[in-house]
Amino acid sequence: MQALVSQVYRLGVEVWQDTAVSGLVARDERIVGVQLADGRLIRTRAVVVATGGASVPQTGSTGDAYPWARALGHTIIDPYPTEVPLVSHAPVIQAKRLQGLSLRDVVVTLTDGRAKRLTQEEGDVMFSHFGLTGPAALRVSHYVSTALRKNPAEALTAYIDVLPAISGSDILGHLKMGRQKGRKELKTHVLEWVPERLMEEILRTLALDPHQAMAEVGNPVLEAVVKLIKAFPLPIAGTLPLAKATVTGGGVSVKDIQPSTMGSKRCQGLYFAGEVMDVHAHTGGYNITVAFSTGHLAGQSAAEYSLKLSWAPVPD
Ligand SMILES: Cc1cc2nc3c(=O)[nH]c(=O)nc-3n(C[C@H](O)[C@H](O)[C@H](O)COP(=O)(O)OP(=O)(O)OC[C@H]3O[C@@H](n4cnc5c(N)ncnc54)[C@H](O)[C@@H]3O)c2cc1C
Repeated sequence: MQALVSQVYRLGVEVWQDTAVSGLVARDERIVGVQLADGRLIRTRAVVVATGGASVPQTGSTGDAYPWARALGHTIIDPYPTEVPLVSHAPVIQAKRLQGLSLRDVVVTLTDGRAKRLTQEEGDVMFSHFGLTGPAALRVSHYVSTALRKNPAEALTAYIDVLPAISGSDILGHLKMGRQKGRKELKTHVLEWVPERLMEEILRTLALDPHQAMAEVGNPVLEAVVKLIKAFPLPIAGTLPLAKATVTGGGVSVKDIQPSTMGSKRCQGLYFAGEVMDVHAHTGGYNITVAFSTGHLAGQSAAEYSLKLSWAPVPD
């Protein structure tokens, strides 16, 4: 950030901090100014709107530009939370039995009420007091938001494959071999594959006695245990709200923006950059990259447009 700020000052850019914008001023579908919240009007030929999304509003990004853009004829896709933790009302979550448990390098598969796969994401997850968080859960969240916007009653389930690198038949084979080890308890064998609290939950789900001697456990039971290790189900009720989301989905429709310039198709001299647009990506730098690349293009295009018009006075 310091490198960018230094360059801004080196180039002699005037920076006004703590100065809220309250609107855009346009005449005949052409930008003529920016209205400040303190009542001042800045006359200008070109504006780059880079006000961000509407998530984590304490960062200053509160979705202010949506009504400005709408008033100038742009379509606004309703903002929704994405890259955000998942909420589950499952008893295991409500009872906080898995709260704080982290699982590394799992695969999360999200399905709808007809068992159709909506997405599959790899990464770490962590159980929280409200549901599931961690990178893989955040990646799934866009699909949860989208499915619930289409059908608020959609019955979504996230299946966690705790050991994606090992096949179910391999795990089953090892568990079956474990039966030859005499009186060792079932829980001891399951613990070889999953953390203790998840082992307890799996055995609780199947109403199994953790202390049962392995030699007495039949194949169907072992198969059921493996099924839960490879696809531990968590009903998903939704996501945390937009205010808690890392990224905002929705925003100014890209259909109203010229991709070669980032210029508005509805209003001359108006450009958009970053998360204010209906563009979002996974975390990991991709959203920052969107902001930088569209910001660069919008800035360059706005400057070129402004220079082209520089012979003409800014209209009153
Ligand atoms: C906690 C958190 C973690 C994140 N982690 C990642 C990550 O790991 N990887 C990734 O790719 N992305 C991540 N993101 C998302 C990423 O930060 C954003 O996508 C990116 O910053 C968007 O850049 P932007 O310039 O479009 O908007 P912003 O960075 O939101 O900047 C918008 C600016 O406009 C100002 N503004 C808004 N309204 C007004 C107004 N009316 N008047 C004047 N100024 C105004 C705001 O104060 C703000 O300074 C994260 C976001 C959060 C909140």
